[in-house]
Amino acid sequence: MKTTRRDFLKLGLAASAALVPVPALAQGAGPRAVVVGGGFAGATCARALRHADPRIAVTLVEANPTFTACPFSNAVIVGLRELSAQQFTYARVAADGVTITRGTATGVDPQARTVTLADGARVSYDRLVLAPGIDIRSGALTGYDEAAAAQMPHAWQAGDQTLLLRRQLEAMDDGGLVVISAPANPFRCPPGPYERASLIAHYLKTKKPKSKLIVLDAKDAFSKQRLFQAAWAELYPGLLEWVPLSKGGAVTSVEPATRTLVTDFGRHQANVANVIPPQKAGRIAEAAGVADRTGWCPIDPVTFESKLQPRIHVIGDAAIAGAMPKSAFAANSQAKTCAAAVAQLLTGGTPSTPKLINTCYSLVAPDYGISVAGVYQPTNGQLADVPGAGGVSPQEAPRATRAAEAVLAEAWFRTITTEVFG
Ligand SMILES: Cc1cc2nc3c(=O)[nH]c(=O)nc-3n(C[C@H](O)[C@H](O)[C@H](O)COP(=O)(O)OP(=O)(O)OC[C@H]3O[C@@H](n4cnc5c(N)ncnc54)[C@H](O)[C@@H]3O)c2cc1C
Repeated sequence: MKTTRRDFLKLGLAASAALVPVPALAQGAGPRAVVVGGGFAGATCARALRHADPRIAVTLVEANPTFTACPFSNAVIVGLRELSAQQFTYARVAADGVTITRGTATGVDPQARTVTLADGARVSYDRLVLAPGIDIRSGALTGYDEAAAAQMPHAWQAGDQTLLLRRQLEAMDDGGLVVISAPANPFRCPPGPYERASLIAHYLKTKKPKSKLIVLDAKDAFSKQRLFQAAWAELYPGLLEWVPLSKGGAVTSVEPATRTLVTDFGRHQANVANVIPPQKAGRIAEAAGVADRTGWCPIDPVTFESKLQPRIHVIGDAAIAGAMPKSAFAANSQAKTCAAAVAQLLTGGTPSTPKLINTCYSLVAPDYGISVAGVYQPTNGQLADVPGAGGVSPQEAPRATRAAEAVLAEAWFRTITTEVFG
C-alpha cells in the first residue's frame, strides 16, 4: 500500500505527541540533558525533552545565533527564493525553557560527562545528544579544501555558500558550462544534487538557454532516479547531461584556479563548478569518540545511544541510521524518538520500540514536485524499511499531480520549520 504524503505529515505530527510520554520523576534537582547542534535534529530534540518532562534541565549548545535551513536552498541558488526565507532564530526554543548556550562544542569528556566549548567553558550532562549535522571530509577529494570551496562552492551547508553559487550563476554568460559533481553514498540529502541540477537547468532554460549543465556522478544510481530522468527528458532535453560512475562520472581531483574537474576519463573546465564533496559527521562527533572509521556514528536504533560511548546519543545526518536517508524529515523523526528514550533513561524508565518516518520532496521545476516516503523500525540492530510502507510518486502522472506535489513540498517546509523553530 502506498501511503500518501499527506498521511505522512499527519503521522509526523502525531508521532511528536505519541512518542514523548511523560515519565514519573523523583523530587529534587532534575537530570541534565545537553544537546549539541540546533538544527532540525537538535532543536527538535531539545524541545521534545522539555515537553517530555519539564523537570529535565535542557541545554542546547549551538554555534550560530540563527539557523539557515538547507531544504529549499536550491531554490535560493536559482533566484526563486531569498535566503532570509531559510533563516530561523532560537527564540521559541528558548521560550520552551531550553537554555541556549551560544558557542562551538570542541570536546567531550565521557568520563567526567562534560562538554567543552571553544571559549573553555564546560557544560555537565547526565545524557548528551550530539546533532552536529555534517562536515566536509577534508582530503577525500584531491584539491578540494576550504580555499577551493571559495572558487567551486559546495553549497551543502546553507548560508554564504548558497549565495556564492547563486552569484556565480548570475554572473555566467549565456552559453556557459555548469558542472555539478555528486558524491558516492552516504551523504546529506540523497535527492539533493538532482533537485539542484533540475532547478539550475530550469534557470538556464529560462535565462541563459545557450548554456549547458553536466552532472558528474560517483554513482550509477540515485534517489527517485526514474522520476528525475523522465522529467529531465521532458523539460530539459539537450541541456542537462548526467554522467554516471560507469561512464566516467567520478571526479578524482579538482583544480580550483581554472574551475576544472578531473575524472579518469577526462577533464571538464566549467564556468560554474558546484562540487558536492564527500562528507562525514560534524567534527565534534570524532572529538567525542562516537564516529567510526567511516566518519559517521553507529547508534542503537531504539535509543540512538552511541555504540561507542555510553550516555552519548547521536541523531540527524551524523548518525548511521540504516535505511533512513540523511534528511531534515528523518532528523526530526529521530529527534523525537531519541528525546522520548532519553527522558525514559534519565528517569529509570524503559524506552519503547519506535517506528520512524521520512518523506523527501524534490522540485524538478518550480511547479513540478516529486517525492519519496518510507517507514522504518529497528530490525537486527539497524533501522530497516517497514516492508510495504512508503513509496515514490507515480511514474506516470498528469502535470496537475506534479504541481500539487510542488505545493505540498512548500507546505511540508512550513510545517516542519514551524514545529522545530516556530
Ligand atoms: C541542498 C539541500 C537540500 C535539502 N533538501 C531537503 C529536503 O527537501 N527535505 C529534507 O528533509 N531534507 C533536505 N535536506 C537535508 C537536510 O538539510 C539535512 O538532512 C538536515 O539539515 C539534517 O539535520 P541535522 O540537525 O542533522 O543537521 P543540521 O540541520 O545541519 O544542523 C546542525 C547544527 O549543528 C550546529 N553545530 C554543528 N557542530 C556544532 C558544534 N561543535 N557546536 C555547536 N553547534 C554545532 C550547526 O551550526 C547546525 O545549526 C537538504 C540538504 C541540502 C544540502
